[in-house]
Amino acid sequence: MKSNTKSCLKCKEVKDLSEFLIDNGKPRTNCKACGNLIKRQTRTANKLLQKEIAEEKRICIKCNIEKSNGDFHVTTGSSSVFELTCKICTRVIRQQRADDYLKRDKQTIKLPKEIPTSKLCTKCKVVLQISEFGTSNGKPRGDCKRCCNLFKKNKRDAEKLNKTSVPISQNTIVEEISVKLSNLGYESD
Ligand SMILES: [Zn+2]
Ligand SMILES: [Zn+2]
Ligand SMILES: [Zn+2]
Repeated sequence: MKSNTKSCLKCKEVKDLSEFLIDNGKPRTNCKACGNLIKRQTRTANKLLQKEIAEEKRICIKCNIEKSNGDFHVTTGSSSVFELTCKICTRVIRQQRADDYLKRDKQTIKLPKEIPTSKLCTKCKVVLQISEFGTSNGKPRGDCKRCCNLFKKNKRDAEKLNKTSVPISQNTIVEEISVKLSNLGYESD
């Protein structure tokens, strides 16, 4: 007569085959009763483990306050990792990052607008419209057109007077004084 009974690997009891769950046509090694017991035990163990993890304390690296895991975000990647900063600090950090990003954005937009409208002349130290400057190599020159012309004129005068020992003409000195006066806010008619 064919055996309709099986010995359970867990409880070692010999039971009827109907007491065993069938997997792919074969009865399982543990009886139904043992299988349910194992399931219950793992469930309880998991619950306990989850509770333990949730109650586990960790210190936030930002505020240095010890908080339970429930106060930390979990980053889920290849494995779940608790963030180093608590939920509150993480929110603050994210807000700061967003603010910094906006500020940086504004600065980069603002800078190129300011440059082309006016420029400080390196010679007469007056802020003039960019149109008052000549260009060299596509860029505005350091000194304004007026200073540039004055410099050329001085050079010409100096060349003319090269034979004499006086390098600067009376006329140039007068011009220089008038430029200085206009810088100070005086009108030099
Ligand atoms: Zn059993
Ligand atoms: Zn914190
Ligand atoms: Zn100038």
